[in-house]
Amino acid sequence: MLQACKLAAGNWKMNGTRADLEQARAIAEAFPSPKCGILLCPPATLVRTMADMLAGSAVMVGGQDCHAQDAGAHTGDISAAMLADAGARQVILGHSERRADHAETSALVAAKASAAHASGLVAIICIGETEAERDSGQTLDVVLTQLKDSVPKRATSANTVIAYEPVWAIGTGRTPTLEQIAEVHDALRAALPDAGISLLYGGSVKPGNAAEIFAIANVDGALVGGASLKAADFGAIIAAL
Ligand code: PEP
Repeated sequence: MLQACKLAAGNWKMNGTRADLEQARAIAEAFPSPKCGILLCPPATLVRTMADMLAGSAVMVGGQDCHAQDAGAHTGDISAAMLADAGARQVILGHSERRADHAETSALVAAKASAAHASGLVAIICIGETEAERDSGQTLDVVLTQLKDSVPKRATSANTVIAYEPVWAIGTGRTPTLEQIAEVHDALRAALPDAGISLLYGGSVKPGNAAEIFAIANVDGALVGGASLKAADFGAIIAAL
């Protein structure tokens, strides 16, 4: 099922200070009535300011992670309730950089997603194989296992988005073939707890390849890292949706 309204989501990662909010403002001004959803996920320090700045615009603001608990003794962490309070509407969870840098398991990602849902946030749950897993023919096994273990049982199309992000394609300039993306997205669609859940592709999406990726059946948008930092690039990707 192809979603009526696709989503272009930008993940700024650990990039951006207040001066960079101008990039977000430029996106909002360029797309006052977009035909698709637009989301920017800045670092936590900018969520409140960006959300205030973009209030009334078509651009949503999200977080890049949250804790599984609502509050407590977890120095340096941020809860889903805090993100919601700061104006976020979505949160990226289980990004491969968090799985690798912070040893996040799929079970923890599922707990974080449940916390996000309880706070009214849409959870964008990331899954994807490493290069070694692809080379050894394990791609579908890996992503389907991550999907099963990372997505809460009661996930719906209203509260959950899945981002398929091959780890080897993130920030490398390399992308799978269109057939490889289609194969994974078809398998994910068949395995979703709610067939209406949006499926994003992520991994070196750029202005030059966005249109052909968005034309693939079962690709409902993109999660974009590096190319979301500059309004000109992200705007060109949004326009291709
Ligand atoms: C990402 O980090 O989610 C990502 C897709 O990064 P990039 O677009 O830079 O490959």
